[in-house]
Amino acid sequence: ATPVALLAAAGRGAVSGLFVRGQDSLETGRQVDTVVLDKTGTVTSGRLTVVGQAETADAPGDWLLLAAAAESGSEHSIAAAVLAATAEQHPDAELAAATEFRTVAGRGISAVVDGHQVLVGSPGSMGTRLPDELLEALTRYQERGLTTSTVSVDGRVCGLLALQDSVLDSAAPTVAALQEQGVQVLLVTGDHRRAAERVAKAIGITDVHAGVGPEQKVQLIGELQAAGRTVAMVGDGINDAPALAAADLGVAIGTGTDVAIDAADVVLLRDDLNGVVDTLVLSDRTVATIR
Ligand code: ADP
Ligand code: MG
Repeated sequence: ATPVALLAAAGRGAVSGLFVRGQDSLETGRQVDTVVLDKTGTVTSGRLTVVGQAETADAPGDWLLLAAAAESGSEHSIAAAVLAATAEQHPDAELAAATEFRTVAGRGISAVVDGHQVLVGSPGSMGTRLPDELLEALTRYQERGLTTSTVSVDGRVCGLLALQDSVLDSAAPTVAALQEQGVQVLLVTGDHRRAAERVAKAIGITDVHAGVGPEQKVQLIGELQAAGRTVAMVGDGINDAPALAAADLGVAIGTGTDVAIDAADVVLLRDDLNGVVDTLVLSDRTVATIR
C-alpha cells in the first residue's frame, strides 16, 4: 500500500464528511460484507419527543421532575426528551440537584434526588417490577412502536414515558445501496422488538436483534466474524462503544457520544447515513488506485 494514496483518500474523506482514523481502516472497508446498524441515534434522528405518559394512582406528584433531575446528568437522547417534556409541563419548577448519578449502558440511569433513589430506564430492566396498572399503557405504546422508559422512585415504578423518534431520510437509500453491493445489513437495538421492527420495516432490513445490551452487541459481532464475515458496526451511543471496538470497522456518528467516537475507526461528520456507503466505496477506489 502506498501511504500517500491512502492519506490523500483520508483527506478527501474528511472534506466530504468522513473522518478516517488510521490507514488500515480504508483497506478494511473494502472487505466489509456485513454492516450492523444501531437503531436509536444511528438510523433514527435520536431527537426523541415524549408523546405519551402514564402514572400509578399513588405516584408522587413530582415524579416527572425527579426523573428529569436524574436525567440531567445523562448524554442519552432520552434524557433531552424527558427534560423538554418536564419544562413544558412544569414551566416554573426548578430541578433539584442529582447526586450519585450512574449510567447503566443500554438500560438507563439512576441518581439520588432530594433524598430519593430515582431510576429511569427500559421497562423491567432495572430490577424494578412493573405494576399491573401500567401494563395496559405499556402494551399500547409498544404496539405503536414507541420507545418506552419507566420511572421508579424509592424502588417503586410510578411513571411510564412513551417516546417517538423519526427515521433518517438517508437510512432506506443507504440500506438499499449496501444490499445492492451484496452487503448483508442487520439492525441491533436495546429497544424492544416492536419499536425495532417498525424501523427495520421502514428501511428494508429483515435481520433484527432487539433488546440487545452492549455486551450482546459485541457477542453478535463475534458470532458473525466466527462465521467468516468482515463486519462494520455503525453506532452513536455509550452502549455501542464496545461493539465499535470489536468490529473489523467501527463507524461512529459524529453527533454521537465521545465514547463511541473514541472507539471508532471512521466518524461520519454529516447527519447522513450515506457516509457508510462512502466509507466502503472510498476505500474501494483507494485500493484500486494504489494497486
Ligand atoms: P439503542 O441500542 O437503540 O441505541 P439504548 O441501548 O441506548 O438504545 O437504550 C435501550 C433502552 O434503554 C431504551 O429504549 C430505553 O428504554 C432505555 N434507556 C437507555 N438509556 C436511558 C436513559 N438515559 N433514560 C431512560 N431510558 C433509557
Ligand atoms: Mg444508539
